[in-house]
Amino acid sequence: EKIDLGLAFDNSYAKELEDFYLTCSGAKAPVPELIKLNRPLAERIGLSNTDSESLAQVFSGSEVSVGSLPLAQAYAGHQFGGFSPQLGDGRALLLGEVLDQEGKRLDIQLKGSGRTPFSRGGDGKAVLGAVLREYILSEAMFALDIPTTRALAVVTTGEPIYRTQYLPGAVLTRVASSHLRVGTFQYFASRGEQEKVKQLADYAIARHYSELKGSKQVYVDFLCAVRDKQAELVAKWLLVGFIHGVMNTDNMTISGETIDYGPCAFMDNYGADTVFSSIDRDGRYSYSNQPVMAQWDLARLAETLLPLLHEDQDEAIEIATKAVTDFWDVFQHHWVTGMRAKLGLSTEEEDDFALGEQLLESMSGEEVDFTHLFRQLADDVEKGTNESQTLFNNADKFLLWRESWLARLARDTLSMPERIAMMNLANPIYIARNHQVERAIEAAEQRGDYQPFEKLITVLATPYTQQADAQEYAEAAPLEFGSYTTFCGT
Ligand code: AMP
Ligand code: MG
Ligand code: MG
Repeated sequence: EKIDLGLAFDNSYAKELEDFYLTCSGAKAPVPELIKLNRPLAERIGLSNTDSESLAQVFSGSEVSVGSLPLAQAYAGHQFGGFSPQLGDGRALLLGEVLDQEGKRLDIQLKGSGRTPFSRGGDGKAVLGAVLREYILSEAMFALDIPTTRALAVVTTGEPIYRTQYLPGAVLTRVASSHLRVGTFQYFASRGEQEKVKQLADYAIARHYSELKGSKQVYVDFLCAVRDKQAELVAKWLLVGFIHGVMNTDNMTISGETIDYGPCAFMDNYGADTVFSSIDRDGRYSYSNQPVMAQWDLARLAETLLPLLHEDQDEAIEIATKAVTDFWDVFQHHWVTGMRAKLGLSTEEEDDFALGEQLLESMSGEEVDFTHLFRQLADDVEKGTNESQTLFNNADKFLLWRESWLARLARDTLSMPERIAMMNLANPIYIARNHQVERAIEAAEQRGDYQPFEKLITVLATPYTQQADAQEYAEAAPLEFGSYTTFCGT
């Protein structure tokens, strides 16, 4: 007996890409319980049955919803530079696709619903802490206007899951523009199945880049379009101090959305080399290395497309190389555009990029909270003060930088109220601070208390606006919180 959630499934991936997945079903959860439903998102996708019992059954993977054809997608990927020809959804289940109110196609996917044919040694499960973490972080990114997968629901399963200890099991329901990854292309390219790569590219173009249809060099344009999305995405990450943590090619989407909130975190104190992930020992995915790694991942996508780029493979390599090389220009354009907004600049000058970089350099080693400093710059502009300097141990470099910035502001054309408004819209007060995320998880895990989780997601939903009773969410971690480490695959 299937449950009807009122979702109008329209499963193009299942229908059009038959060789790209395996159908399978979720594990039966002993005691599925709905912990959270993202109501605005539920409404957007037309989910009309909000009966918690039905939602708990479907969103734990225990029961199938009418119209859904659960499947696990195949993909490969370079993990920390090493190629794995077969990864695939090891603990995710695509329930299907729906069209939102604007006709935009969205995947609905479970994460943590049990083993699939791609699980290898894994248990296919997820623990509550990791699920809440993804909920908080992905919704925070959405509120910061950064392309991302969304969180629709959290269900606990009633099953203890063994990690380094037993922890409560849970399933996250994720909504995404699609789950096509660089690694999806690699899966077929590495098997020499070039016609499948073409089929996938055609599907991806129709789904994400339909404006390219009819172009004489549609696959070149496709590669460049993905490049542009990725470059903009990574620029946006850097501008809010976000560190993804595991930019493997299976975690880089074709849509340009942030995906896989495993080991990611926002940095507190600025440091170009900042890393949180327990397994990123060489700093491959450190804060400032993220554009380099996005470009590396793009090169892996380009390789899979070579036969489609030009009949002559020497020409194809030249085209691909140019497309990938140009990543850097696109990235810099988006970064400096965002940095101008953060610094209250409406005009463009050649040296703005350097101005932004010099500010970061002045922060280096000074234990300056990244989020606080930028918001303080806005406050100082408004009040004519220089409280910013108090955030530094040694403010010498900053004070020099500040002279250039003030001179640059004097050459800009914005009125004071416009400038303040611009800066306050580019510099969040509230980010998902690690100590607050951990506090919310701990309360849920240890006491079944979801109040801190609810409060945190409420505050993070409007990150640029000062909120009453939210001062503690703007504050840095207390010293005793210490250094922070994140983990994959929990
Ligand atoms: P990630 O590093 O999170 O991108 O995951 C890499 C691969 O490991 C993907 O194929 C995941 O589906 C798989 N994976 C991660 N955790 C588990 C798990 N607990 N059980 C099965 N597969 C997993
Ligand atoms: Mg992943
Ligand atoms: Mg993951």
